[in-house]
Amino acid sequence: MSAAQIMGLVASGRATSRADLSRLLGLAPSTVSAHVQELLDAGLLEESGEGRSRGGRRPRLLSVRAGDGVILAADLGGHHARIAAMDRAGRPEAIQDLEIDITAGPEPVLARIADALAELSTGRPVLGMGIGLPGPVDSDGAVVGSSRMHGWNGFSVRRRLAEYYQAPLVVDNDANLMAMGEAVVRGPELRDFVFVKAGTGLGAALVNDGRLHRGARGVAGDVSHNRVPAGGDRPCNCGNLGCLETISSGAALVDAVRADGVDIATTADLVRLARDGNPTVNTTLRFAGRQLGEVLVTIVNFFNPQAVILGGALATCDLFVAAARGALYERCLPLTTQELEIGESVAGPDAGLLGIGRLLIDQGLAVPVRNLP
Ligand SMILES: [Zn+2]
Repeated sequence: MSAAQIMGLVASGRATSRADLSRLLGLAPSTVSAHVQELLDAGLLEESGEGRSRGGRRPRLLSVRAGDGVILAADLGGHHARIAAMDRAGRPEAIQDLEIDITAGPEPVLARIADALAELSTGRPVLGMGIGLPGPVDSDGAVVGSSRMHGWNGFSVRRRLAEYYQAPLVVDNDANLMAMGEAVVRGPELRDFVFVKAGTGLGAALVNDGRLHRGARGVAGDVSHNRVPAGGDRPCNCGNLGCLETISSGAALVDAVRADGVDIATTADLVRLARDGNPTVNTTLRFAGRQLGEVLVTIVNFFNPQAVILGGALATCDLFVAAARGALYERCLPLTTQELEIGESVAGPDAGLLGIGRLLIDQGLAVPVRNLP
């Protein structure tokens, strides 16, 4: 048991009282009370109002005190970054959007992010810093095998950030962070789910009993390099042929629609035309959603999640989501789909930032006070 565990349980809403903490940590109430008192004295937790009684005296409600320090977070895409300064509970206080070019390589991009974050932090102590990257990130915090992030492969983002910040760090891929952001917004009832980020690239994350499943090397959750029959012998950026990525990613959809004579350049153009009801775009989107759904069938049968949640630009296209949902309902074992929720993410554009906050809190923020347990 550590201070970080208590802070994490309270910040995430899993515990709102000493009694909750005692139950979740399996510790005697007196032990929990002593630790909570230390955190209250240190100004990290606060008590307010009165919670719901389960018989006996009504418990005081515990919450995380905003305090002085900041959590810094940056969620990077190919051409933009969303950055934030957040309080100790992971609530964004200031958010800013920046234009970046990820292909400029890690040094200039990270320096630019650090400068912008320094402005947002306004000199307050940094309690933790996290960054989301649009590609696979290994357990050392290095980008591995991304074809879209020129110059980043093998570069340890974690090591470079450690030179900027003397604070706990999170370096993860965007799908993992969006999944945790969804968990923050949806609350502790959502514990087992698959999150798919369907944007220009495809990524996915698996949350098991409220925690990210990262796998042995940190790169679990890939769906994009499953071979699909419709992929035929299309070359994929991973070096294989016929991956789902070559059919259902925004980049592949843009190529497919262009080959049919529709002049667009980006995934955002594609989404706009889908809203306008362009028939070529809609047919392509429906096919792509169906292929994604068929790959997800295996995952749903195997993992039996509560929900399959789709995020990213393509998830805002109803036809794409409906086609994936159709494939899942049709092909999954009935018991797995009886109560399965399949739908669009509710966390919105801040999902990645909220996910960074959650992971930093769970891992333990820097504590700028002495003598803590
Ligand atoms: Zn591939």
